[in-house]
Amino acid sequence: MRVDLLLAAGRTRSFEFFPPKTDQESSVLAATLDDLERLRPSFVSVTYRAGAARARTFDLVTKIQRAGHFGAMAHVTCVGHRREEMRDVLVQYRDAGVESLMALAGDPLEGPADGGELAYALDLVRLAREVGEFSIGVAAHPQGHPRSPDLASDRRHLAEKLREADFAITQFFFAASEWRALVDDLAALGVDRPVLPGVMPVTTLSAITRMAEMGATVPEQLAASLIDAHARGGPAAARAAGVAAATRLCEELLDAGAPGLHFYTLNRSTATREIHDALFGPDDFRPPGGVGESP
Ligand code: FAD
Repeated sequence: MRVDLLLAAGRTRSFEFFPPKTDQESSVLAATLDDLERLRPSFVSVTYRAGAARARTFDLVTKIQRAGHFGAMAHVTCVGHRREEMRDVLVQYRDAGVESLMALAGDPLEGPADGGELAYALDLVRLAREVGEFSIGVAAHPQGHPRSPDLASDRRHLAEKLREADFAITQFFFAASEWRALVDDLAALGVDRPVLPGVMPVTTLSAITRMAEMGATVPEQLAASLIDAHARGGPAAARAAGVAAATRLCEELLDAGAPGLHFYTLNRSTATREIHDALFGPDDFRPPGGVGESP
């Protein structure tokens, strides 16, 4: 499954998961995968944590591939890895038949620096090109990466990295104009690779603060509408307001020409399925033959 070829063939819809750490998380993810399989995603992606946890990404990606319902892309991060160690990771994916990778820097490790040799995602893109014929995606931040001193330098570094990759997926954001501005800025820098917008509905009041910490400020109007809905109807009303806002965002993105939609699922299916049903109708992505009743 090559994401670049899927994007060349038409609009994609993709779902992002993280590898479960406990039996309980594993059963939640299994139920989510069952449920979302009915939406027939173009592909799914699996996040990565450096260190001992990295085998979980490999295990989940290869398990999803073996199941054969849809292709899986592996996220890989390079900060804190030695070059040869990172090469081994990439060879393992290549030899397992994984064709698409998200090449990421990852966040700086806590504690003393441990001799990582790959400072930026671009270093990993280049190493992955040496190792195999991967289709390679990179991360993009519509508001600029939180560690960047300014937006202009972040855009320049993104353009440099995307010139050597095949596509980008964005951090989540809340206004279609942010995606448009990012794509326009890249075009002005001579880069026209597909940029998939990352969508994550805000479904709780606590998420408003958490998202801001991750570099995606929830606009005041959206925050106010959730707070207002919560005051009138409690958590369920706030959640409904968040899903409705994310659905509007998706509509605007598709109208603006986005090459697809990438959903951050947090390993749950309900919000993603609701947005899908609102956008495309509940039956649009069911497999033929009437299989696929909603649970
Ligand atoms: P880079 O592209 O290397 O950029 C990092 C910073 O360095 C930016 O400020 C950039 O402007 C700057 N920079 C780049 N090149 C240079 C240069 N040559 N000189 C000076 N500055 C430079 N993290 C995980 O740990 N696991 C995951 O699975 C994961 N998945 C993600 C998926 C998506 C879609 C996104 C958007 C993010 C994901 N992240 C993940 C988070 C990501 O690892 C962090 O945001 C990380 O801090 C930066 O990664 P990057 O790939 O954007 O880094």
